Amino acid sequence: MPRLANKVSLITGSGSGIGRSAALLFASEGATVIVNDLSEESGLETVRLIQQAGGEAFYINADVADPNSVAEMTEIAIGKYGRIDVLFNNAGISGVGAIHEIEPESWDRVIRVNLKGVFLPCRSVLPHMMERRSGCIINMSSCIAEIGLARRASYAATKGAVLALTKSMQVDYAPYNIRVNALLPGTIMTPFVEKYLSESYEDPEIAIAAIKTRQLSGELGRPEDVARAALFLASDESSFMLGSPLYIDGGVVFGKNA
Ligand code: NAP
Repeated sequence: MPRLANKVSLITGSGSGIGRSAALLFASEGATVIVNDLSEESGLETVRLIQQAGGEAFYINADVADPNSVAEMTEIAIGKYGRIDVLFNNAGISGVGAIHEIEPESWDRVIRVNLKGVFLPCRSVLPHMMERRSGCIINMSSCIAEIGLARRASYAATKGAVLALTKSMQVDYAPYNIRVNALLPGTIMTPFVEKYLSESYEDPEIAIAAIKTRQLSGELGRPEDVARAALFLASDESSFMLGSPLYIDGGVVFGKNA
């Protein structure tokens, strides 16, 4: 039996990186995947890859930080499939800088996408899950919620907030048989990280070596590593996990190299 048989899953930001990897994996495990992304081209490419592999997927263009856009996305999804079993709030953007270096507009943009972009899809999808007294929400936090990292203030603030939000949400929605858990990845090699490394360092190889020193694993994380953790949270195998942070970080948070 596929692990997500008959589950309708909405994955935000699934035109790239971790989201695309999760979309492909969920579909291969029997889920119908609603692919969301700002970029129509990359969202449709995820759908094409899923369909090519024999899975079922549908693309909805929406900005997760825009209330009207999110309401429309939910309406289309519910209209087409009648329910959303799994909501994976994955979309996110990077933010670089210490507090004194960050322009207020840049701060607002990171908070808007990474935090409001979790709040809005939850707010829109939850009434449907509550009505059915069933549902699973996965929120994308980061191991940066647990550790200090240089010049990542706005990004860290959002990912810490997503972790706190996850725990509060779980208390509110447990009575409706809705599980809410969070993923806390370490550094995962995706277009998001590759762009950050090439923009922030003259020699990205030096940055990669530095990243490896803060984890216990000698390997860099891959999108599939996080996608597999998301699959576990989305499936009924994790039915006793409520409000939990799940770390996929190569040993950053709980490991010490020296
Ligand atoms: P990615 O490759 O850049 O994928 C993120 C996707 O989200 C992109 O396709 C992007 O679309 C989309 N997106 C951005 N803003 C959006 C919006 N307002 N509405 C809808 N879609 C939007 O990044 P990733 O590395 O896979 O990251 C996915 C999530 O994991 C993020 O929340 C990130 O913070 C988190 N995370 C990543 C790492 C890591 O090391 N990679 C570690 C911890 C946590 P466009 O490209 O069209 O803008």
